[in-house]
Amino acid sequence: MSQNAAQRLYLMQVGSMPEYEIPIVCYLVQTGDGQNILIDTGLPEVLPEDEADFVNGQDVIQQLARLGLQPDDIQTVISTHYDIDHAGRHAAFTKAQYVVQRAHHADAATNPRFAALRSQWDQPLERIRLVDGDTELLPGLELFETSGHVPGHQSVLVRLPKTGAILLTIDAVPFGGAFTRGEPEEGTDTNGEAGRASMLKLLDLVDREQIGLVIFGHDMAQWAGLKQAPDYYE
Ligand SMILES: [Zn+2]
Repeated sequence: MSQNAAQRLYLMQVGSMPEYEIPIVCYLVQTGDGQNILIDTGLPEVLPEDEADFVNGQDVIQQLARLGLQPDDIQTVISTHYDIDHAGRHAAFTKAQYVVQRAHHADAATNPRFAALRSQWDQPLERIRLVDGDTELLPGLELFETSGHVPGHQSVLVRLPKTGAILLTIDAVPFGGAFTRGEPEEGTDTNGEAGRASMLKLLDLVDREQIGLVIFGHDMAQWAGLKQAPDYYE
């Protein structure tokens, strides 16, 4: 196991959509050489009026503080995509490099869907690492391009010393009931045809890599049974 490999994965719920019982979540990966890598940053501090379905909980900064971390301790923010519940606090991480798919960042420049959070994600280009497709960031941490939910969405695979491989589907598969080669459970398939190829790509990945734990993007039933920060997977 190399020194800079992933060692711990923390799961943090930072908000919710109470009406639909949907958790809004972020993740933190810590490496053997002390790097802190955040995956997404949750909702913005002040929600736009037309996003009243969302509710902020204990936000990412408060959750990191419980782990003894300040925003400036985060070296890398993996940005899965720029939707309001995933990129809302990007600007708080002033020392971090952002890692995002080039196709997503390019689309966001002109796509009105991502305009609300522009001040969060539209950082100087020298602070953004644009990646093209599937990419190994470091030992035990890989990105998988999973367009469909939005162009250039990415999912994350974390390999840990004890737990083994954990796949974070993010919004490529928000609900476990849609993660099937057959018919999705009613109401779970929010990405439809556009996301089907990416969903199948992740199913293939799970088979090939013998992934033991797949964490879906917004699945409250599953989330309630997972370890939450300050507990962690190792
Ligand atoms: Zn989402």
